[in-house]
Amino acid sequence: MKSRKKTKAILKRLLLGSWCVLMLVLTFFLIKYIGKLSNAGTYANAGSIDTVSDAYRKQNTVTKAPVTEAPVTAVPTPKAEFLKEYEHLGEAKEVFAYESGIAYGLRYPVYEDEAWSGAVKAAAEELLAAQLEELSGVKAGERKLVIDYEDGTVGELVSVLFRIEREIDGVTESEKEQWIFNKKKGETVDAETLFADRAYVYIAEQVNEALAKETDEVTGAELSDAPAGEAEETEQELTGNRETFSSYLLTADGAEFYYEVNGEEESVTIPYAALHTYMAVTVNGNVVADSIRELDPDKPMIALTYDDGPHYINTPRLLEILEENGARATFFVLGERTLYTESNKNTVKMIYESGNELGSHTHTHVDLATLSAEAIVAEITNARETIYELTGEYPTFVRPPYGSYNDTVKKYANAPLITWNVDSEDWKSRNTDMIVEEVMSMAADRRIVLMHDIHTCTVDAAEILIPKLIEEGYQLVTLRELFYYKGVELENGRVYHNGYN
Ligand code: ZN
Repeated sequence: MKSRKKTKAILKRLLLGSWCVLMLVLTFFLIKYIGKLSNAGTYANAGSIDTVSDAYRKQNTVTKAPVTEAPVTAVPTPKAEFLKEYEHLGEAKEVFAYESGIAYGLRYPVYEDEAWSGAVKAAAEELLAAQLEELSGVKAGERKLVIDYEDGTVGELVSVLFRIEREIDGVTESEKEQWIFNKKKGETVDAETLFADRAYVYIAEQVNEALAKETDEVTGAELSDAPAGEAEETEQELTGNRETFSSYLLTADGAEFYYEVNGEEESVTIPYAALHTYMAVTVNGNVVADSIRELDPDKPMIALTYDDGPHYINTPRLLEILEENGARATFFVLGERTLYTESNKNTVKMIYESGNELGSHTHTHVDLATLSAEAIVAEITNARETIYELTGEYPTFVRPPYGSYNDTVKKYANAPLITWNVDSEDWKSRNTDMIVEEVMSMAADRRIVLMHDIHTCTVDAAEILIPKLIEEGYQLVTLRELFYYKGVELENGRVYHNGYN
């Protein structure tokens, strides 16, 4: 029974086996047949193309007709050609696309820091969208747009200069747009107002001087064979305004300003040391009020100066009084006192950011006239560096303690030395009324007043004094403003008692 069952089972398996084989063979032929069918279909289609090719060609010819015959139809720039032409733009983030007659490419930098990277991406995309919108409104055939960039950073500032190139029917136009980011504040900086108007006057002076020199050299070389009168043609005076130097890039070496001479793009790099007094945001990201305000140069000016600070209570109070009255002053701070506490450091920053001026009163308030050259340099340098670290700007002036100096001090000060011609005697009287009386009786145009913001009585006096002086027609200014508006030339090592040259 066992063997019969086994035989039956084997038979069953065999039958099943041959059934499977049969099915496989059948499937094979079926696939082959279907394949042949579909091939036949392909060939049949190929044949049909031939038959409709005339109509197809006709259609094709219409599309490819010269633009003169069909001016409404855009003739596209082949995408591949466009991509090939601009593939060198690599590295940073790129966008290449082709849409309804406009081929465009955008490239912008990608930074490690997400905040500024995200901000530059948004700016780039916004720029692209605006440009595309403008271009799509142009009724023309071939349109091409390329936005590339250059970037630079200095301290806390990131600078990107986008170069925009548009090509409409073979005619190229270009423009530049800049973007500045303050890493410290985490915000974009208005590139239009980063430099005060006076910065452009200064830059133009530098460029014009260089251009004049170049012209002189050219004139000199040509004198022998060129006819007289031809030489002057090359000289071109640039106007010191924003339009002349419409774009710039902040590099590590200085701000690189672009301008045009005879239709050619040129650039000049101006170091920050020469520009910092004109900058609304310092290279280390501090936001400052314009350090030289628009004032009336013909109206009398008085420079109030406050020594021996900062004082964490009196100085901020004084800053408020100045602010309320639209007045400014100069604060000659001590390096050592500044570093003494965090609130003192913050006070120095407050002075700076409010647009008032910081000067160096040395590091330890020592009589410089008693020191060696080395010690003088150390006293002045330490205070300078302290102020720089906190504000990103070196102070312009030094006030020697006790107004004491000698030839060695003048030689090694490396700055103009400022004394005074009005002493409020606040250090002696310590009396509010007496301070007010003293200063009011001595008030006159271009005078420099000595006071001390470490005394509460001095700040009490300021509350009365400042509006009183303004009422009498004085503009209360920083030393920088005084010398600027009164046309006083500044020299290192020279002593200034007042605002006269
Ligand atoms: Zn002092």
